[in-house]
Amino acid sequence: MKEKIHPKYGITTAKCACGNEIEIGSTKENIKVEICSKCHPFYTGDTHRIVDTTGRVDRFKKKYGLA
Ligand SMILES: [Zn+2]
Repeated sequence: MKEKIHPKYGITTAKCACGNEIEIGSTKENIKVEICSKCHPFYTGDTHRIVDTTGRVDRFKKKYGLA
């Protein structure tokens, strides 16, 4: 039996160091990554800012009876 020349390309799960699992298309399997969109400082920082801003808007609305 000869192996096919083309590596198989499919969806595999890449596990991040934070525990999050991401499905990605790759020829490899059981990929481990150290950072992902959930734990990357850029994304987490952004999320915190969005949450904080939303809270302020809610407080503003309540203060002025807009909620
Ligand atoms: Zn992660």
